[in-house]
Amino acid sequence: MSRGLHLFNTLSRRKERFEPIDPGRVRMYVCGPTVYQRIHVGNARPLVVFDLLFRLLRHLYGVERVVYVRNITDVDDKIIDQARKNGEPIEALTARTIRDFHADAAALGCLEPTDEPRATDHLAEMIALIETLLAKGHAYEAAGHVLFHVPSMPSYGRLSGRDREEQVAGARVEVAPYKKDPADFVLWKPAAENEPGWPSPWGRGRPGWHIECSAMAERYLGPLPFDVHAGGQDLIFPHHENEIAQSCCARGLDLMARFWLHNGFVQMAGEKMAKSLGNVVRVAEVLERFPGEAVRLWLLSAHYRQPVDCTEEALLEARDALRRWYRVLADARVAAEDPGVAEGRVAEALADDLATPAAIAVLHGLATRANKAESAGEREEFARRLKGEAALLGLLAADPVAWLKHAAPAAALSDAEVEERLERRRAARKARDFATADALRAELEAAGIVLKDRPDGRTDWERR
Ligand SMILES: [Zn+2]
Repeated sequence: MSRGLHLFNTLSRRKERFEPIDPGRVRMYVCGPTVYQRIHVGNARPLVVFDLLFRLLRHLYGVERVVYVRNITDVDDKIIDQARKNGEPIEALTARTIRDFHADAAALGCLEPTDEPRATDHLAEMIALIETLLAKGHAYEAAGHVLFHVPSMPSYGRLSGRDREEQVAGARVEVAPYKKDPADFVLWKPAAENEPGWPSPWGRGRPGWHIECSAMAERYLGPLPFDVHAGGQDLIFPHHENEIAQSCCARGLDLMARFWLHNGFVQMAGEKMAKSLGNVVRVAEVLERFPGEAVRLWLLSAHYRQPVDCTEEALLEARDALRRWYRVLADARVAAEDPGVAEGRVAEALADDLATPAAIAVLHGLATRANKAESAGEREEFARRLKGEAALLGLLAADPVAWLKHAAPAAALSDAEVEERLERRRAARKARDFATADALRAELEAAGIVLKDRPDGRTDWERR
């Protein structure tokens, strides 16, 4: 029997058994994108990893009992700068970027979160939270700003384990003269005439980034604490540390969330993929060459707390694994609608802190057994188990025959062009003009099209 779900909690720095506070309403928050440009592959990792956790929680506690909130930051200096650079209104930039983000997330096989609140719809909650922090003496007003006073919280730094010196250095701020303490951070700041701003008790301005998440998490998941707060490793400090400071000090609590989960970086040539390092690859660029499902499998191929390398080889490997698995399904005629059979082996692997390498090994094993099967019945049995187990990972849901036809890199020939050549080849063979038929086969093969002649005279094809 299952030993239950265990997750590594950044807060305690160890794996702990996960028990929801209320099994009837399991609550999870993941920091979403700041919408000013298309996401890169590094941004895609938390999207896919915590989509997997969402699926696992739904599997364990029931689809209707899990609430997954992923916010959208649609007010930020970076957005203002980008809109100015593009010469377009902020709303046009954010609306387009949100559309693109949704398209990328869907291509990666991510379920929609339960709620996807936008910061600009929740100014009232943010202002109320800031007022509470002011009233309780954890914040102060200075030069049109409202700042959180870090020394007012003795346990500040608990999540990241940073001492005071590292906190100040890590905040990477040129220390503004109005700050009482160099570690203090912005809750609210004044807006210039030509910048977006909202009325507040402290004048027209806009919220700091950290307060957005504290306000929206509580609005959708409250009362605190909730079960899981997740995001990329780079958010531990200062973002998550500051969320904790705001939420806990405002409510007089020790905990904002019980479990804090953080995924490792995507690396390019051993270096973190980051905008600041200029080595980012957009998800959209990768999707031009690889099926989204292959990108998803590649992102899940390493354990989520380890770094994962973005290489052509790794993506090809993921695509080839999927091709092998879909071929098993196609050969056994397992249709897209067939739910398959899950015996819980993938679920068991994932229950150990989302051990995706072990889960993927289960799929490889089932595919091998299907390929070695000695009867059609046995092959079908293993193929259906492969499909059933893969479902929890968000894989192998497509129609196998269609996937094999389309999921290769963009080929030189369109489907219609392939069909046209196949028709000519069929006619040539009928006329016993084998030289023409062979030439057409060679042309198709050169374009990466593999032909499979069937006993009934028809020809199936797929892209290599
Ligand atoms: Zn956040």
